[in-house]
Amino acid sequence: MPVAYAVPVPEITSLPIAGSAERFPVHRVYCVGRNYEAHAREMGFTGREPPFFFLKPADAVVPVPAGATGEIAYPPLTRDLHHEIELVVAIGKGGRDIAVADASGHIYGYAIGLDMTRRDLQSDMKKQGRPWCIGKAFDQSAPIGPITPIAASGELTRGRIALTVNGQPRQASDISQLIWSVSEVIAHLSTAWDLAPGDLIMTGTPEGVAAVVRGDRMHGEIEELGSLDVTVR
Ligand code: MN
Repeated sequence: MPVAYAVPVPEITSLPIAGSAERFPVHRVYCVGRNYEAHAREMGFTGREPPFFFLKPADAVVPVPAGATGEIAYPPLTRDLHHEIELVVAIGKGGRDIAVADASGHIYGYAIGLDMTRRDLQSDMKKQGRPWCIGKAFDQSAPIGPITPIAASGELTRGRIALTVNGQPRQASDISQLIWSVSEVIAHLSTAWDLAPGDLIMTGTPEGVAAVVRGDRMHGEIEELGSLDVTVR
């Protein structure tokens, strides 16, 4: 007997895969906090703490096809919507307690993503010691471009990461500046959660986070992965 559901079954969010007709189904979206030292400092921290994590719902992902310009709505409740350009890692093989040396074998591929943040709400929650969900895990808070399979890109341990808004430079760094490398992040995460195929990891943003307003155009780049364009409606 097929299962009868009482309400419409939610759609599976999926991302395009570069050079393939197949799509990547999104399971969970893990995010790493303060993983570039200069960004940790601009947020008032030292950058010497252990990695820590938060999540976004899978359906907060806005898939942006290759060559297209994505669009997000300016979200409610905030007056300080920030951009955070990030390297996104797509997990192809699950596991728990994954060793750093084995971590790259669990990667399906990489993408460029934006961890959009309602900074004013996040700051309020931080001050009160409350969860960050309202600042981080809102609808359309994660525009992400196509996944480049690791088979095509090779393992990414360095490469320029940058973001402009309306053509003006905002964020620029290098993947090699990650405090916790992608392999270390996978190892840490997998001690706390069982990683599964379909999981995405947003690996943290470099310095230069700032606000966008309606009509702004964000252009993100990561060497080897191309670019991601998103406008704010
Ligand atoms: Mn982030």
